[in-house]
Parts: sequence; C-alpha cells; structure tokens
Amino acid sequence: MTLKISAMAKKMRSEGRDVIGFGAGEPDFDTPAYIKDAAKKALDLGVTKYTPASGMPALKQAVADRMKRKYGLDYAPGDIVVSNGAKHSLFNICAAILNPGDEVIIPVPYWVTYPELVRINDGVPIFLESDQTFKVSAQSIKAAITDKTKALLLNSPSNPCGAVYTQQELREIADVALEAGIYVISDEIYDELIYEGEHTSIATLGKDIKEATIIVNGMSKTYAMTGWRIGYTASNSVLAKVMGAYQSHAASNPNSIAQYASIEGLNGPQDDVVAMKAAFDKRRKLLCGLINDVDGLSCSVPKGAFYVMMNISAIKGKAFDGTPIGGSLEFAEMLLKNTLTAVVPGVAFGADDYVRMSYAVSEDNITKGMARIKEFVQSLR
Ligand code: PLP
Repeated sequence: MTLKISAMAKKMRSEGRDVIGFGAGEPDFDTPAYIKDAAKKALDLGVTKYTPASGMPALKQAVADRMKRKYGLDYAPGDIVVSNGAKHSLFNICAAILNPGDEVIIPVPYWVTYPELVRINDGVPIFLESDQTFKVSAQSIKAAITDKTKALLLNSPSNPCGAVYTQQELREIADVALEAGIYVISDEIYDELIYEGEHTSIATLGKDIKEATIIVNGMSKTYAMTGWRIGYTASNSVLAKVMGAYQSHAASNPNSIAQYASIEGLNGPQDDVVAMKAAFDKRRKLLCGLINDVDGLSCSVPKGAFYVMMNISAIKGKAFDGTPIGGSLEFAEMLLKNTLTAVVPGVAFGADDYVRMSYAVSEDNITKGMARIKEFVQSLR
C-alpha cells in the first residue's frame, strides 16, 4: 500500500514535478565524516575479507561498551550478534524463537515489517490496539497472552507514532512478560532520538527481564547510515548463539568495511548525533504546530523518532472535487495527485484514521508542504 504512493511520487519526480515527500524513513543528513573516514581507512588496511559470521569481536565489544555506558547493562561480546541492519536482526530473532503457530503480540500502530517478519517465520501476529497515547497497557498485554504467545514486540520510541514508554509502564509490562514466560523483543533503534524525557531500556529493569529481552538496535537512524546495513542484537548468550548460527548459514558476516566504520561510529565523538537530534527536534515542533493549525487536522506531539501521525478522521467522508475521502490511502493518493505532497497512509500501520509524516525533511519543505496540505484540506466540502 505504501509502495503505491511512493511509486507515484517517484514517477512524478522523474517527470520533473516538484513533489514534497513526507515519507522518508531515514535521516536526510549525511553519515558523519569521521565514520566515512574510518571506512576509507578500512579499505586502506585491507579489511576486505570474511569476518566472524556474527560480527567482528571489536564491534561486538563496542556495542557491549555502549550498552554499559548508556544503560549500565552488562553484555559480553558473545551476547551480541551483528547483522545486515536491524531488520535482519529482527528476522534472526523470529527465526530463532518461533515455532509454527507461535504468537507474537504487536501493538498497533506498528512498523509495517513486523507482522511480515513473524509470518515469514511461521508465526502469527496478534495485533493489540493502543490507547490515545499510542501505547498499550500491561493489562491489555496480559489479556492478549495465550498459551501460544512466544513474544511481545515493543518499539520505543516508535515508528510510526513516536510514542515513548515510561519506566513505570515498562516495569508493569516486564512483570506481565515474566509471569507469562514470554520474550520481549525490544526494538530500540530510535533510542538516541528522544526529545522529551529519557529512554528506558526494558532490559535495565532487573536480571530476569534482561534474560528474557532481546534488544534490537543499529547504526541506520542514529548515525544516518541506512545504506551501510549494520544492526545488532543484545540478548542472552544461548539465543545469541542460535541467531549467530542461523545467520552464518543464511548470510555470513555483514559487510566488513561497514563493520569497521561502525566501531568508530560507536566509540567516536557523538557531536553529530547531538546536532541531528537538535535539528529533528526543531522540525518536530514546526511540523506539529503547522498540523494543529489546520482545521480538520490534528496530531499529538511525538516524544521520539522522526515521525508524526496526523489525524485525518475529521475530514474522512468530505469530498475533493466531488470525490469523497474514504480512508488514509485515498487521502494520500488525492493529496499527492492534487498538491504534489506525499504522505504515508496510516492503514499500512494498522491506523486508517492517520497518515504518517516524517520530519526527516528540511524546515523549508515542511513549511511549503504543510501550506499545500492546508489549502487542500480547506478546499474539501
Ligand atoms: N525498526 C524500526 C522501528 C524501523 O523503523 C526500522 C527502519 O525503518 C528498522 C527497525 C530497520 O532498520 P535497519 O535499517 O537497521 O534495517
């Protein structure tokens, strides 16, 4: 569904039309120079051969050091598996823990890939509706658990809605998970992009929940390295071994040069991360202000990641040029055709009252794009 809109936007751009895209799932910044320099150094040093399949020992150590530095979490290099992006890490997890028919609880709205990763690995996604704040409660998770439940998939800060779970909420969720004996897959890929409050990793809430949690993270979002394809997991060593063995036969090691550069990325100065976060924060406020300024549109201000869910429920049923807007896909299509502005329909994330807008977009384009959206919405009858 989302591909339809991006294919249309791409075609329009190739025809030379001035399309403003709010669909980006990646930072619009360049990879920091010190990381690019490290990749050049890797080439010069001849780091161009196979590495251990689950990642270079020095990179595993750098990940373990970051876990200690940022969260006080103790992981040994043997607990870390480095993969071809966090998506691959999530795939490895599902392959390692799911038997046919096992259920994975996925809060709605969810990142589009989650249900598919579960299905590819013969599991069954169980969708759990969230509340007004786009979060699910421990009680609702408890009610969704059956004897087939294998894991809960948490994503805080979240794509697509930017929701961030508090420490107290995570504590209650951890208790439910431990009581039921299920895994928590904690996708923390946006953990550096938090604008209000602090990020809590559920694994920090005690020895038992750390043992049951598989943390997913990676270089893509924090270091603007989406194309380099480096993600990782931190888990108990038994799971790490299973995932490493699976990856060894399926894909071998992730790219050696990208791994080498990632070591520098994690260990080096973090000033670029701080600067990117400040820019995102400014854009977040700008975009949310402009959305809430339009009659018929609204959004709650996300606390993390770089996405806003724009609520379009008040304009559903209204018509543009006689054609009524039924749902988020129609809204996105009509908006693109008539104003050359691309957004992602919320139906793709299980939330048809919304469209997702990324603020990995310049301030100029946010202002220009929102002016187009405002005019479009004002013209609806
Ligand atoms: N998890 C979430 C929530 C994401 O939004 C994304 C990318 O959009 C990923 C994982 C995958 O990231 P990677 O580029 O490391 O595969």
